[in-house]
Amino acid sequence: MDMSVFKEVLDETARYAVRYLDGLPERPVTTSATLSQLRDSLGGPLPEQPQDPAAVIAALTAAAEPGVLPSSSGRFFGFVIGGGTPAALAADWLTSVWDQNAGLYVLGPAAMVAEEVAGGWLADLLALPPDVSVGYVTGAQMANASGLAIGLHHVLEKAGWDLAKDGLWGAPRVRVLAGRARHGTVDRALRLLGAGTGLIVEVDADAEGRMRPDALRAELERGGGPAIVCAQLGNVNSGALDPIGEICDLAREHGAWVHVDGAFGLWAAASPRLRPLVAGVEKADSWATDAHKWLNVPYDSGLIFCAHPAAHRATMGARAGYLMHGAADERDALDYNPEHSRRARGFAVYAALRALGREGVADLVDRCCALATRFAAKLSAADGVEVLGEVVLNQVLVRFGDDDAHTRAVIDRLQRDGTCWMSGTTWDGRAAMRISVSNWMTTADDVDRSAEAILHHHARREP
Ligand SMILES: *Cc1c(COP(=O)(O)O)cnc(C)c1O
Repeated sequence: MDMSVFKEVLDETARYAVRYLDGLPERPVTTSATLSQLRDSLGGPLPEQPQDPAAVIAALTAAAEPGVLPSSSGRFFGFVIGGGTPAALAADWLTSVWDQNAGLYVLGPAAMVAEEVAGGWLADLLALPPDVSVGYVTGAQMANASGLAIGLHHVLEKAGWDLAKDGLWGAPRVRVLAGRARHGTVDRALRLLGAGTGLIVEVDADAEGRMRPDALRAELERGGGPAIVCAQLGNVNSGALDPIGEICDLAREHGAWVHVDGAFGLWAAASPRLRPLVAGVEKADSWATDAHKWLNVPYDSGLIFCAHPAAHRATMGARAGYLMHGAADERDALDYNPEHSRRARGFAVYAALRALGREGVADLVDRCCALATRFAAKLSAADGVEVLGEVVLNQVLVRFGDDDAHTRAVIDRLQRDGTCWMSGTTWDGRAAMRISVSNWMTTADDVDRSAEAILHHHARREP
């Protein structure tokens, strides 16, 4: 085997990567290729003969780049999307170089320990109990599925039912009390678990999407068997955080499990200024969050934490005979996440945290929130632009007059214009633009240029 082939293709790839990243700040935040152009440029028959790796990469970059949305740009404000900090991106490359199977300690000792260490750092940063168990998953979707699975296991065990063995058929009915403005991944998690969305008891929320504790109390007092409360930190539209301390206290009084969907909002805990917003979060039972959003780790990277490590292992653990579990103090990641074999996702999380440090993470969170407030101030000063509700975190909701079609047209023109990229939503039954400031590179100048572009398209009012 001629190992110089790696040098050639990786040198070429690194040169390309640096060029792409160097150009990112001025790159139009849009794509230039159509669907059919991409099918043409990437398509064609499967090659019959082996191809030179460097030529494959050159062809791939040329064909793909017009269809690569620069979502790691500092002027990308759609959905809730992070970029990749230099250390996290580099560690993500190394993850592929080392190519560990991060399921078992024997297969990747350093990967296991990096995950263990980063898990402890995260518990500290995110105001969780110090002894939480942690699982590295693809994102908050799987973290929500994991937390709800552990919660179901735990509350049914307390009701005398062995979920692992007997499943949900014939089990006591569990109620999942979730806010009206919950994320769709909660419903999807219950579908995936075979529990069904019929278990959801919808708890009323206020105008900003925060679960109302009085409504939760009323539902809990109605009684009716084992219960899981699914709280949310960070509504995808408004950024609102449920009053988590109060929710946990109510749930404890009634013996309910609390799962927190904190995909991005849990990161408020990392900022001393914002930490009061999540006061009491340590009293919950399981927590889902993302590293690929606010921590700016490349995709994919989510985390599930649990205050009951034994329940976590009982739900997720894999104990097939051939797996060669080692010494008792070695941590096998497959006991904490639903995957069997998987990528050593923890290296990038570890590197991201180590490079930023506690102050760097706090600064990242505070900066994004300050820039969201700057956005709101610039936009609300203009005629016919309404910022909906208050900016509590990094999310801004904007409406352009009473005509939903105009609001949608502004979003549509922006997405094609390339100055910046925003996505739309429905809020209170009406169209709105969402702005999410989640990227470590975003500057005040990015916000000003973007606000200018938004106001330009708002003023254009053409069909
Ligand atoms: C983004 C998000 C999710 C889903 O996270 P993925 O990383 O896309 O799986 C779930 N809940 C909330 C509140 C979110 O913002």
